[in-house]
Amino acid sequence: MPPLTRHLLDRIAQDGPLRLSDYMADCLLHPRYGYYTTRDPLGAAGDFTTAPEISQMFGELIGLSLAQSWLDQGAPSPFTLAELGPGRGTLMADILRATRGVPGFHAAMTLLLVEVSPTLRRAQKATLKGQDVAWRDRLGDMPDAPLFLVANEFFDALPIRQFVRADDILWQERRVTAQGTTLTLGLTGAAPEPALAHRLGDTKPGDIVETCPAASAIAAQIGDHIARHGGAALIVDYGDWRSQGDTLQALRNHAYADPLADPGQSDLTAHVDFEDIATAAAPACHSLLTPQGVFLERLGITARAQALAARLTDDALSAHVAAHRRLTHPQEMGTLFKTLALYPKGHRPPPGLEPAKHDSA
Ligand code: SAH
Repeated sequence: MPPLTRHLLDRIAQDGPLRLSDYMADCLLHPRYGYYTTRDPLGAAGDFTTAPEISQMFGELIGLSLAQSWLDQGAPSPFTLAELGPGRGTLMADILRATRGVPGFHAAMTLLLVEVSPTLRRAQKATLKGQDVAWRDRLGDMPDAPLFLVANEFFDALPIRQFVRADDILWQERRVTAQGTTLTLGLTGAAPEPALAHRLGDTKPGDIVETCPAASAIAAQIGDHIARHGGAALIVDYGDWRSQGDTLQALRNHAYADPLADPGQSDLTAHVDFEDIATAAAPACHSLLTPQGVFLERLGITARAQALAARLTDDALSAHVAAHRRLTHPQEMGTLFKTLALYPKGHRPPPGLEPAKHDSA
């Protein structure tokens, strides 16, 4: 039996059925057997491909949007440039290349990467060779300086809990339990769930709703910091304003798998509930949630794509055209992926995004 399965069965035998969040945390981040701790999951040879791995244009435009926001806030020095879950370091490398020409930006920045995976830290070190970078496991305490932050496909990797609406006011939690040596899902008894009070109005008995306590906590920390010290955060991920239904999914070799089969061997994710992030980040303001395709078009991806295309021929040109389409087309990543900005009161969101109505006054 694989050691992570043994470990999970032992936990269930000892403590009873596991919250999905505990299951997910073990599968992804177990110090010895976790999915992220033991491998580089990205790219054609891995399990999934992300926007920065598809084209350099993604990181370049994000970098310019953040740098413009930094200029709009008076080019503060020093400031922290942070990334959550930087993967192979590709997005940060593209951000740094694109912002080299912004006077003062590099001289004022302190780079902070939040990464739990030793394997991916090594990849980031190699990609960002020559840069002065601090790595951390968690955001933790940050310097009292403006924070400009990016997170692409980070929040979807944070552990979720799932609740099934039982009746007028009560919820049952879905938990991971064991039948013999097979992991399966079970339900707790019905109980009130104060964190879901705002979902009683738009759900009915039998509906599934997810929460992500780690996402709320991180968003609260970012929001608090930006409200006090300035800065801006760009959060890009798949999901919606409000999560509804079971969105837990497992990806292995670019195909869907059973989230409970072969723990630690596939990428587990869930859709991001952006309303929860925006709410937790108050008193920082938030932008309208904007489809990735719209965001990148507003930042000029088509002009950038044309400029890059002028230097390409044959297969490289076809791959470049396909990458542009993949990032922006509604049937590819353009609509499923969304962008949300957090920014301080009295300022505009970074270019490419509009203020949410409540703080546009
Ligand atoms: N942003 C990158 C990688 C996305 S994959 C890209 O777009 O290509 C998710 C990343 O988040 C990986 O780097 C993974 O190791 C990291 N990660 C996942 N859960 C984490 C956690 N709880 N704390 C810190 N990093 C985490």
